[in-house]
Amino acid sequence: MVARSITILGATGSVGLSTLDVIRRHPARFSVYALTAGTRAEELAALCREFRPKIAVMSDFTAAQHLADLLSDLPDISVLSGEQGLCDVASAAQACTIVAAIVGAAGLAPTLAAVHAGKRVLLANKEALVMSGKLFMDAVSVSGAELLPIDSEHNAIFQCLPANKIRDPDGAGITRILLTASGGPFREHSAEDLHTVTPAQACAHPNWSMGQKISVDSATLMNKGLELIEACWLFNITPDRIEVHVHPESIIHSMVEYADGSVLAQLGSPDMRTPIANGLAWPERIDAGVAPLDLFTIGRFHFERPDLLRFPCLRLAAEAFEVGGTAPAVLNAANEVAVAEFLRGNLAFTDIPIIIERTLALTPVLPADSFDIIFAKNAEARQRAQEQIDLLTD
Ligand code: NAD
Ligand code: MG
Repeated sequence: MVARSITILGATGSVGLSTLDVIRRHPARFSVYALTAGTRAEELAALCREFRPKIAVMSDFTAAQHLADLLSDLPDISVLSGEQGLCDVASAAQACTIVAAIVGAAGLAPTLAAVHAGKRVLLANKEALVMSGKLFMDAVSVSGAELLPIDSEHNAIFQCLPANKIRDPDGAGITRILLTASGGPFREHSAEDLHTVTPAQACAHPNWSMGQKISVDSATLMNKGLELIEACWLFNITPDRIEVHVHPESIIHSMVEYADGSVLAQLGSPDMRTPIANGLAWPERIDAGVAPLDLFTIGRFHFERPDLLRFPCLRLAAEAFEVGGTAPAVLNAANEVAVAEFLRGNLAFTDIPIIIERTLALTPVLPADSFDIIFAKNAEARQRAQEQIDLLTD
C-alpha cells in the first residue's frame, strides 16, 4: 500500500489533533507531508518530532523563527512561514489530502489553494465556505478537487446520500435534510441568565470537546447558522428544505428524508475522529479509535425546535444567506470579532448577535463576484464590528 500523504492546516487545534490521532493508528496507510499552526511553536515542534513531516509552517513569522530553533537538530524538516507558506503546503504536488482545520477566515486562502490544486480536501473550516459560497464550489468543480465534509453533521449527511448524487437533491429524491444541533451549554438558560454567562461556561460544551471559537458558536447557535449555510452549498439545497432539530444527546449527527418517507440517519459517539477517519479513508472504513455506541446506556433521544428568540444568531445566519452576495462573509467576520471580544471578557454573550446585526446593517452588500471582493468585505466588516464593540462598551 502506498501511504497517502497528508497536509494538516491547523495541526495543533482540536480537529488537527484528532486527525493526527487517526493517522497515528494507521502508519502504513498515511504519512504526514506538512503540519501547520498559527502561533504555538512548542506544540507544533512536539508534533513534528513524532510525525516527522517534510515541512512545518507557522503563520506567525516570529513563531516560525522559534520553531526553526526548536527543530534545529532535525534538518530534514523545512520551516516556512506566513500565508504563502500555508498555501504552498496546501497545494504541493507531494500532498494528496489536505485537512482544512484552521479556524475562521484565516483558513480561506490556504483551503482555496488546496481546492485550486485539485486535492482531496477534508473540510472542517466551515467559515471558508460560508464566506465564499458559490465561488468556492465553482472552484471545486473547475479543478476537480474532491471535497469531503468532516464537520460531523455534514459528514453524516454525506454518508446518508447516494454517492453519485451528493449535489443533486431532486435526482436523489430528497425531501428534507434534518440538521441536528446539541443546543449548546445554555439550551435551558433563561434570556436573563444569558446576559451574565462567562467564556469558561460557554466553552464547556456538554458533548463535544472543541476549540474556543466553535464552542462559543455552539453556545450562541451561530455554529448551526454557519452549518445551515455550509449544507446549502455542499449539497446544493435551499434552506427551506433544511430543518434544524435540537437533539441534546448529540448521537444522531444529522438525517436525510426521502420522498418515500424513509429517513436515513448517521449515529455515533460525539467524537470527531469518526468523520475525520471517514474522510481520510473514503470510500473505505478504518478504525478511528472511537468506542462503540452503547444505545442501552444512552436510553432515549430527544428533539426540540431551536429557540430563535434566545439564540438570534441562527436567524441572522439564515437571513444573511437569503440576502446573498457578500452578506455571509460580513456575518462571519462580525461573528469572529464579537466572539474574540467575548472570549477576552470585553463583551457580553448577549451582545454578540447585536454586534453582528449592526455590522450587517452598516456594511453594504455587493455581489460576490470575486475572492478579492470577499477578502475586502471580510476586512471591512471586521473594522466595522470592532467600531460597534467600542461604541457599545465605552
Ligand atoms: P482550534 O482553535 O482548536 O484550532 C485552530 C487551529 O488553527 C490551530 O492549529 C491554530 O494554530 C490554527 N490557527 C488559528 N489561527 C490561525 C491563523 N490566523 N493562521 C493560521 N493558523 C491559525 O479550532 P478547532 O476547534 O480545531 O476548529 C477548526 C475548524 O474546524 C473551525 O473552522 C471549526 O469550525 C471546525 N470544526 C471544528 C470541530 C471541532 O470538534 N473542534 C467540529 C467541526 C468543525
Ligand atoms: Mg458541526
